[in-house]
Amino acid sequence: MKQRINLLIGFSVVALIVLSTVQCYLVKTTYDYKVAQFHTEIKNEIGQISNNYSDIDSVLVSKKEALYKDLTQKYIQGKKTKTDIKNGILENDFQDALTLRIQRKFERELPNLKIDFAIVLNKFILYKNTKKGDTIFSQKPFIRNKLYGNLASLDHAFLVRNYVGTTNGTLENENYQLLTEDSMYVSVIDWEKIILRRMTVVLILSLCSILTLISLFVLAIRALIRLKKVNDVKTDFINNITHELKTPLATLGISTKILAEKSIRDNDENFNSIVNTISRQNNRLQNLIDQVMANSLAENEIELQKEKIETEDFLLSIVNDFKITFPKINLKTDFKTSKTILTLDRFHLTTAFLNVLENAVKYGSKTITIKTSIVENQFSISFEDDGIGIAKNKQSLLFDKFYRVEQGNLHNTKGLGLGLYYVDQIVKAHQGTVSVISDLGKGTQFIILLKV
Ligand code: ADP
Repeated sequence: MKQRINLLIGFSVVALIVLSTVQCYLVKTTYDYKVAQFHTEIKNEIGQISNNYSDIDSVLVSKKEALYKDLTQKYIQGKKTKTDIKNGILENDFQDALTLRIQRKFERELPNLKIDFAIVLNKFILYKNTKKGDTIFSQKPFIRNKLYGNLASLDHAFLVRNYVGTTNGTLENENYQLLTEDSMYVSVIDWEKIILRRMTVVLILSLCSILTLISLFVLAIRALIRLKKVNDVKTDFINNITHELKTPLATLGISTKILAEKSIRDNDENFNSIVNTISRQNNRLQNLIDQVMANSLAENEIELQKEKIETEDFLLSIVNDFKITFPKINLKTDFKTSKTILTLDRFHLTTAFLNVLENAVKYGSKTITIKTSIVENQFSISFEDDGIGIAKNKQSLLFDKFYRVEQGNLHNTKGLGLGLYYVDQIVKAHQGTVSVISDLGKGTQFIILLKV
């Protein structure tokens, strides 16, 4: 059973991991799709602003073209080197003015978005008399080749468009053609937030479905483990009761056989001794059956005969009776309350308190202290012992029916696992609570809280 549960947990965990991975993959794919969609939207919107961004300000564009022309001609005349041309283009004087113009245009046309941009030069190639091109400048898009724009890096930017321009000219009777290529990159500020906002429904739904799955899984496994524990506990109970019944039944069997012998019947002393044994074993069987019967009632089926009782007196009478039965046990009292009148069922509570006290003795205690106090407007009775204690991981089922800490067939102490269940039922029937503080080897403290 345990192996099957472990196997089931293993499979479920793997299934959960696979499902979560698929879910994450789907969310990631949706995210990528949304990013691509967003880029396309921005490209279209920028495209609509102007079919050719370079015509944003024809004066500035013509300035740029004039600069290209001037530099080209100086290059052809040998007055400028390739490096001079490159620097001349990239450090032109209309840089700031054009950047500002385009920025303004974006602000006006797309007021909901904050857009940074850069136009970077990729190619500057000169063709003279249709000869092979003279590559003055050709590079992949880099931010350091920025013609104008306010972007500081291309890291989070995306390509909006490439602009290829050709200019024809004549110099010293020689025709030349200039091929330029530049690209516009834009970055929308807080674009991640915009995308996440668009994905809110998808994210919430997938998170909810994963959380629901995990919760269902945890609930199912917990129910399964609890079922297994209850099953184990029931098997233990059957073992315990069989064990408890065997001794009196065997004694009764032997006793009846002995009684069948005439010699025994004729001897009064022997006869009485056997009859006493039969009666004792009979009582023991009766007690066992009573215990099981008494515990077959649920807390709301217990009929209490409540009366007003001075609780400290009531506890002292139990203490005194207990001292007579267990003279070797050091039973102390530490009452922080006096003359507290509570409405209690004397009979059932006596049995419950005796169960706790007898357990203390049964599980190795030599000194027991009973304390009373008022805790948060409730009357607290605590039973503290110095016995073997109860491991923390065994405490959750302690008040369950038939539960015993010693499991399987290894029983050093006799019991049916009904004592604490009974205590719990009776205290609950008084609308009270019972709790335990303990650890292995550190004694045990049972705290019963009753309404004042
Ligand atoms: P049982 O018939 O086994 O005594 P109980 O319901 O009275 O059944 O107690 C349940 C289990 O709690 C016991 O099997 C025992 O292991 C543990 N237990 C109860 N009281 C004490 C105690 N005072 N000290 C240590 N263990 C205790």
